[in-house]
Amino acid sequence: MISEKPTIKVSWLGSHDYCEYKWYLENIMKEEIPIVRAMVVGKEIHKVKEDEFRKVAKPTTPKEFLESKFYTITKEIGLKKEFDNFILIGKIDELGVDANNLCVIDDKPRAKPWFGTKRQIWAYCILVREFVNENHPEHLNKKIFAVLRDRDSNREVWKEEFRESNLIDVFNVINRMLSLFKNETEPIPNNIPGKCRACVLHKQEKCEFSCG
Ligand code: SF4
Repeated sequence: MISEKPTIKVSWLGSHDYCEYKWYLENIMKEEIPIVRAMVVGKEIHKVKEDEFRKVAKPTTPKEFLESKFYTITKEIGLKKEFDNFILIGKIDELGVDANNLCVIDDKPRAKPWFGTKRQIWAYCILVREFVNENHPEHLNKKIFAVLRDRDSNREVWKEEFRESNLIDVFNVINRMLSLFKNETEPIPNNIPGKCRACVLHKQEKCEFSCG
């Protein structure tokens, strides 16, 4: 018997927190959610920043990078980890390292430390820790910090050490997603009017549960 493990994208931790129903429509029911202009612009800005970094970056290996004594960064790191009942994948905007710490940095426009945003960064921290554990366990003693940075001002707006309780929180949400994948439960629509008013499905009158 073949059993397929669902692939959970780290970015889902943020969108699930915004509205579970919308997340469900998009990722389980595979409904087309209209693309808003901000998303297109966001991708373009991301690409420009990545190209600028590539022009000045020196090639290195993960081993050399993790051995850095002075603060060093790398960008756009794709990571994947297979757990017992799901696969977690994500691309980290920026990873910083020095002798004692790893900083997992996510850039967002108008960055605010919403709970879903923190969860998304904690999930990246899980991927980084698993990568170090599997490939370079000699660096497991480094503290891991979750960092949210404003994409446009480059200012750090939130920084916190990643803890075991954060991992439990992320796994609880992923378990909820898995039960939705298995049709064991019903998705819950958001009940905060401001979120619905900002939602593209509300604007296009495509959501029967909108409270906006
Ligand atoms: S309109 Fe509200 S309830 Fe409906 S998908 Fe959007 S955020 Fe969720």
